[in-house]
Amino acid sequence: MSGCLRIAFYVRETEVLGPHKRFALWVQGCEKNCAGCIAQSMKDPGGGETVEIPRLTDIILSVEGIEGITVSGGEPFLQARELCELIRAVRAERDFGVIVYTGYALSELSGVLLNEIDTLIDGEYRETLDDDKGYRGSSNQNIIHLTDRYKDCYDYGLGRKTEFFISGDKRMMVGIPSESAKKLWEKLQADDFEQQ
Ligand code: SF4
Repeated sequence: MSGCLRIAFYVRETEVLGPHKRFALWVQGCEKNCAGCIAQSMKDPGGGETVEIPRLTDIILSVEGIEGITVSGGEPFLQARELCELIRAVRAERDFGVIVYTGYALSELSGVLLNEIDTLIDGEYRETLDDDKGYRGSSNQNIIHLTDRYKDCYDYGLGRKTEFFISGDKRMMVGIPSESAKKLWEKLQADDFEQQ
């Protein structure tokens, strides 16, 4: 029997969370308490919404032109079994690459989800070590290639890139934000507040 994932949201296509065009999924729930976390709304394990894995699989497979999926959150490893089920179902149909952002260090992790990941970005976000470099939030975090799939694909000279999605009253920021992107995001949220 298929399970459910508790998710915060997803975007069907992004170019700022790894190489190539990717589906991006943010899972809901995180036990850590990183100062400066920009994903506060994704920490409550009872927040977000639950989605049946076959439905999410169909949504991902319906997107043309993407090379893989990036999973962030929240904490992906709190729903490792369900994520495994999702990734295996998608990969049964298409050759998808998988990138995962986790707040745990690789040395703290074990289990089958690791076998499904091509590239892992590990470690807590530490605001004091935020060096504005691309693809990870702070210098203690590591971009670890668990397979060769993306080994030569990361262009570290690109720096940080962020996308903003605005649809009706919904606003989403995607990517590791630079200081200027964080300020713009705060302004967008303040504008949202003024409209209420
Ligand atoms: S691990 Fe990520 S989501 Fe969790 S508190 Fe730290 S920055 Fe926020």
